[in-house]
Amino acid sequence: MNIGFIGLGAMGLPMAKNVARAGHKLHIMQNRRAEPVEELKKSGALVFSNPAELADGTDVVITVLPADEELRQVVAGEDCLASTMRKGQALIDMTTATSTTLLELTPKLRELGVTVIDAPVSGGTTGAAAGTLTIMVGAEAADLSEWRPLLETMGNNIYHVGAVGQGKAFKIVNQLMAAMHILTIGEAFGLGTRLGADPKMLKEVISASSGYSKMMDLRLDGFLLDGSYEPGFGLDLMKKDVRLAVESAHGEGMPATLGAQAHEIFQAASTAGYGGNDFSSAAAFLAQTAGSAFGKRDG
Ligand code: NDP
Repeated sequence: MNIGFIGLGAMGLPMAKNVARAGHKLHIMQNRRAEPVEELKKSGALVFSNPAELADGTDVVITVLPADEELRQVVAGEDCLASTMRKGQALIDMTTATSTTLLELTPKLRELGVTVIDAPVSGGTTGAAAGTLTIMVGAEAADLSEWRPLLETMGNNIYHVGAVGQGKAFKIVNQLMAAMHILTIGEAFGLGTRLGADPKMLKEVISASSGYSKMMDLRLDGFLLDGSYEPGFGLDLMKKDVRLAVESAHGEGMPATLGAQAHEIFQAASTAGYGGNDFSSAAAFLAQTAGSAFGKRDG
């Protein structure tokens, strides 16, 4: 198949490589950075100058963009997908964005006869490279059946979570919980360390107790316990996801009491210069601002 792929960053590039490895022809474009485009061109990808040109001649376009604004621009801005996409084509959007934005864009695409699949992912750059992502799909069941084999080139846990917009909702819930779990570790392990507990022993004991969260497996060894914050998943990306969660809550007229507080902590850590670190760096930042040595850079 001819597959448009827009968003060739930390996630999109390895995902696009897996799609190409499965035998599909990629249609790609350069945004700012030339490197990913050059890399894919060597293995036969066709290069276009904007989303409109790229989409023409494809069966499906996959987008893995930073967030709402970029998604809006690519789908409905200048030289956009909606200006050339037509009946029979599909858009698979794998961006972490709000359901509000995708649901605003969907009617226009459907009027053109374009199928919309909402398919954000979890599993990080390692999962993207290995093709083992979790994909949270909001779509009509028949549309998912049609495009499942393509999704399976990128992920191995594919969940049908509801209609278009629900993929985004599930992903944002996951991000809000992940953000709060990492900050909880920062505050609680920060306190424990200050009280004289050995953080490695804390990990062992809390892992067998009611305070356990999976984030302890994901972000203690190799990150907080080693004072090492190579992303992973960037702190500024997590800050963006928490903002999306808070905005989504406010859009529903709901408070997001803990989320808003979490967002302020991610913002403070970013302002302090840790935005490019792994998001677990926010937990070390929180502990350090409370005067604890937990998660210090020098371990
Ligand atoms: P990156 O910032 O690494 O990549 C974003 C890509 O989008 C870049 O290739 C960028 O091009 C391109 N881009 C930005 N704006 C436009 C535009 N207007 N038109 C065309 N291309 C554009 O982000 P990630 O790959 O890390 O993340 C992508 C999405 O996946 C985000 O929503 C993120 O939250 C989500 N995600 C990320 C994970 C991770 O571990 N990183 C894990 C799970 C989900 P250029 O660089 O040239 O500007």
